[in-house]
Amino acid sequence: MIDMTAVYVHIPFCKRRCTYCDFITYANLDAMLPEYLEALQDEILLASFDVAEAKTIYIGGGTPSLMNKKQIAGILDCIRQRFGISEDAEITIEANPGTVHADFYKHIRDLGINRLSLGVQSFDDRDLKVLGRIHTSDEALASFEQARKAGFDNISIDLIFGLPEQTLAGWRKNLAQVERLMPEHLSIYSLILEPGTLLNRWVERGLVALPDDDLVADMFEETLTFLSRLGYVYYEISSWALGESKESRHNKVYWRANEYLGFGAGAVGRVGDRRWRNMANVKEYILKLRQVARSIKVENALGLLSNGGFVQKTDADLGSAVAEVENLSVQEQMREMMMLGLRMTEEGLSEPAFYRRFGRLPDAIFGVEIEDLLKKGLVAWHPFEDGRHLVMTPKAYLLGNLVFRAFV
Ligand code: SF4
Repeated sequence: MIDMTAVYVHIPFCKRRCTYCDFITYANLDAMLPEYLEALQDEILLASFDVAEAKTIYIGGGTPSLMNKKQIAGILDCIRQRFGISEDAEITIEANPGTVHADFYKHIRDLGINRLSLGVQSFDDRDLKVLGRIHTSDEALASFEQARKAGFDNISIDLIFGLPEQTLAGWRKNLAQVERLMPEHLSIYSLILEPGTLLNRWVERGLVALPDDDLVADMFEETLTFLSRLGYVYYEISSWALGESKESRHNKVYWRANEYLGFGAGAVGRVGDRRWRNMANVKEYILKLRQVARSIKVENALGLLSNGGFVQKTDADLGSAVAEVENLSVQEQMREMMMLGLRMTEEGLSEPAFYRRFGRLPDAIFGVEIEDLLKKGLVAWHPFEDGRHLVMTPKAYLLGNLVFRAFV
């Protein structure tokens, strides 16, 4: 049985595709949302994992804030019905400031959603235009205030630096807005140009220019210093929080390489040594779930199913909409736990947790790699209550990939 149930739900619809986005999402298909949600609810209700109640739920996308109160309530009801939701569960929803109004926040608070992830990306309208965002900076600010008024005391804001033509002064304006708003959590990324995106084509054709690496490094350094002065703790390679209680409990499940369930088109789940991905195509996903739900209803009516109609997630049939399954070798699981753990800049990779899971110490498996990183001053062992943890040093923050690559 999985005792720490983390549930991810994917809503793959957006009003318009942002120029930098390569997520699994569809623009202008939100008319399909009702059918999609029907399929999604079936997928949740038919799941047969042997799990404890959900302790974290993350509704991401895409743009989950395209849903109305009833639709969001429908998803939560299914999770409650199928797995149960722990009383102190962290329940997060992502919201795009261009899709919401004050009532939306009141409604979702009423549903028990207690954490909001606001996709702001920049407080500069010029940046927002280049990124193809559907909201302005003023709308983002207004949205934040509305969420506060609705009672949200755990708000995360997403920001991106290293944007086309962005200067250090321009980035500082974003940090100044952070100081004004003081969200409890920040996810701040440096722009990654993904192949196939519109922004990538613009850069390749020379239509827009990106700041050079030194300037991007300066932006990051400035962010570290500025946010530390405000009292934020840098606890993961792209995440800051105002105290441990405001760190993302859901994301920490991923970074600790723990198990999680994923529902919806393109969603990923991981239980035991298996990781699977659902079919990404929304139409195929809906059709598949319809077929499965229909056949189960028929089998139930004929009394052929003895387990209450759950789809058995056995080797042969992991889930209703699974497109690919990876069986992770012990070596792969160990490497993954090292890479993910080292993302956490405070907690790092816990040696006791590694030992509990694999019966071996990290040094016994990755002695050469760890020794090399220690010598280069990129990681260090820190004492914790439960034993020692391997943690990245500040010197490695900008070279994170160098550290992770050691375990690929
Ligand atoms: S809103 Fe988010 S998911 Fe949707 S297109 Fe923009 S970046 Fe991608």
